[in-house]
Amino acid sequence: MFVRKSSEKINELMKRAERMGTSRRHFLELVGLSAGAALLARRRLFADEKGIVPTMVNAAAQAKITIHPIRRNISVLEGSGGNIAVLTGKDGKLLIDAGFAVSRPAIANALTSINADPITHLINTHWHTDHTDGNAWLHSVGAAITAHENTRKRLSVATRVEGWHWTFPAAPAGALPAKTFTAEQEIRQNDTRIKLKYYEPAHTDSDIWIHFTDADVIHVGDTWWNGVYPFIDYSTGGSIDGQIQAAEANLAAITDKTIIIPGHGPVGCKSDLAEFRDMLVTIRRNVAALKKQGRTLDETIAAQPTAAFDAKWGQFLITPAAFTGLVYAGV
Ligand SMILES: [Zn+2]
Repeated sequence: MFVRKSSEKINELMKRAERMGTSRRHFLELVGLSAGAALLARRRLFADEKGIVPTMVNAAAQAKITIHPIRRNISVLEGSGGNIAVLTGKDGKLLIDAGFAVSRPAIANALTSINADPITHLINTHWHTDHTDGNAWLHSVGAAITAHENTRKRLSVATRVEGWHWTFPAAPAGALPAKTFTAEQEIRQNDTRIKLKYYEPAHTDSDIWIHFTDADVIHVGDTWWNGVYPFIDYSTGGSIDGQIQAAEANLAAITDKTIIIPGHGPVGCKSDLAEFRDMLVTIRRNVAALKKQGRTLDETIAAQPTAAFDAKWGQFLITPAAFTGLVYAGV
């Protein structure tokens, strides 16, 4: 049964429990709160902790940047926000995504350790801050920025992400992509063909893939979170159905030999991506069935429609309850 307590009281008790070394989950079990009440309490906790965005920035500030050579002249830098791909060669470095600005020294060091060539080009997979916050400094050292026109549109004005309880101010002029496109674009750099394609609204309304067709390496941005539940940004055009359609588009575009760079999580292959698609489809079906029965969000969370997947996928920023909420909002 749901024990009704004021949220102030819950927070006070939770803080005391934490001081005594009791985990939040254990505490919520102890006081007999329903999953829905736990979700509400967790929202309050995020507010107390100044929100998920500062949490991500702090994590990036402390993180080491790891370099993973992928194939040919392509590497991935991991550790600051979304995965950053790097293409090297005679025309200078091309980066896909920019990480957080606080990681500038660590990212610059990692790039210099690959070689001394300048950074000449940056492509954003979508507008989110964990992929674009470093745009300004990368532009200041010489990178021209390319992205979908909606990335420029979102970065140009103050933008609220309800799911993060955060409003981002408009980005400075230098951080805005100067080269934008609407559907598809092909570019050449470092003797490499690079195809850019818009997904239509998926995780946001600004997502694109970047396909190094000769190397058969593709960066799919936040249309794929490898091994963890994804965030879906309904505030700027994302939805569960868009996320599923993007996963299907990715699967149709690749082969068993393609190396796939996700927005978050380790680089993977087609079978990993198919597992992600299957997880999305199954949870969508489960949540839609519960909602169709007339269950509220709290009742749907309490029915645990993600249970079969939680041990693997529920261990990162997006908890099982939070992901259920993201799916519920779109069915
Ligand atoms: Zn994102």
